[in-house]
Amino acid sequence: MLYRSLNKESQSVNFETALKNGLAKDGGLFYPEKIKKLDKSFLENLHNYSNIDIAFQVIKQFIGDEINEKDLKVIIKNTIDFDFPLIEIENNIQTLELFHGPTLAFKDVGARFMANCLAYFNKSNNEITTVLVATSGDTGAAVANGFLDVKGTNVVILYPKNMVSDIQERQLTTNKKNIKALKVNGTFDDCQQMVKKAFVDKELNSELNLTSANSINVARWLPQMFYYFFALKQIKANNKKIVFSVPSGNFGNICAGIIAIDLGLPIHHVIASTNSNNTIPRYLKSKIYNPRKTIKTISNAMDVSNPSNFIRIEEIYNDFNLLKNNLSSYSFNDGETISAMKSVFNKSKYILDPHGAIGYLGLKKYLNTNPSFFGVFLETAHPIKFSNHIEKALNIKIKIPNVINKIISKEKVFTEVSSYKDFKDSLLDKYFAH
Ligand SMILES: *Cc1c(COP(=O)(O)O)cnc(C)c1O
Repeated sequence: MLYRSLNKESQSVNFETALKNGLAKDGGLFYPEKIKKLDKSFLENLHNYSNIDIAFQVIKQFIGDEINEKDLKVIIKNTIDFDFPLIEIENNIQTLELFHGPTLAFKDVGARFMANCLAYFNKSNNEITTVLVATSGDTGAAVANGFLDVKGTNVVILYPKNMVSDIQERQLTTNKKNIKALKVNGTFDDCQQMVKKAFVDKELNSELNLTSANSINVARWLPQMFYYFFALKQIKANNKKIVFSVPSGNFGNICAGIIAIDLGLPIHHVIASTNSNNTIPRYLKSKIYNPRKTIKTISNAMDVSNPSNFIRIEEIYNDFNLLKNNLSSYSFNDGETISAMKSVFNKSKYILDPHGAIGYLGLKKYLNTNPSFFGVFLETAHPIKFSNHIEKALNIKIKIPNVINKIISKEKVFTEVSSYKDFKDSLLDKYFAH
């Protein structure tokens, strides 16, 4: 499979190069050159396939012959060795729980897939790849977990000071070994900007092999397609049209869902549900793309005002009206998020995390005017990661899972950075040598 740059100036590259470079040389995001629909009989019989077989069928055209069938299946097996249950919340509303991986958020799938692919390509050389990752809270943890002790990789995590939860920060800063955490005096968008700048920095690139583990990286982004197939596999036959609501920040997850539709999955509409960082809902109303300063919210993993993957979504539809017919986008503030957590808990005893709550709200809003649809929203993180907000809102105590108990008393180790120069100096220092 070849990937072209959306900036259209660099040549297309294969999967291995797209994975190892993260961004194209011209600074553009990579995008698959061709997408082939999957077999009808496969799509109609998902319930007869194991998750591993489904994931293999879904991803194989994007890898081509660069990883053989046997090794690709091993990579997939290492990636998705946990459950993706679909739970009924109300009549016509179900949630796909994506938080049963090792760091309790949906980013585990993409991060593990990418780490396993990188390890595969580096297994017989001595290359060291420096993996940069800007995180709004969960990506960094998933990447740290997926890449810990992976041969040929050093990971540098950039996270925004005071904008991640305590548990998230511990997940980012207690890994040691080949994982380094940088606490940035700024927002997630500032972290993302630093990473993007590093890719076009000649001096850095002459010293280090840089790649990104954000959803700009195709190996992190594309495996997120699996979720939509795993959900469809579990939906009991009904004659309703299906709509998905995706709590969205950087728009990688929802964009993967749109590619799944391109592969032939029968989903009739998607909803990008955002918090008060509402650049896309405003854009769909006004046709003016105008990111504002990032606002801090209780659904902090979605505190993104300039979503990197939106350019891929525009590439898919290539027409404003077509985009609007296929994708709705709504924004909800913290007050609405907390009310949704309360009302769902009171009605169905289900504990939403703030991100899932926003997915739920977006779905409810759409179903209000489209009552003939059947809806799934994605529950993207385990409630314990945001227990401070949830326990207060619902007046409950959430049981701490073992994986969290293990890190809760570990010391946080990080370097503070306030500028691109600080970031660059810390990349070039010899931290990883000892
Ligand atoms: C990253 C994240 C999101 C947003 O996903 P994008 O692909 O960036 O849109 C939503 N919820 C949680 C819990 C996350 O960690």
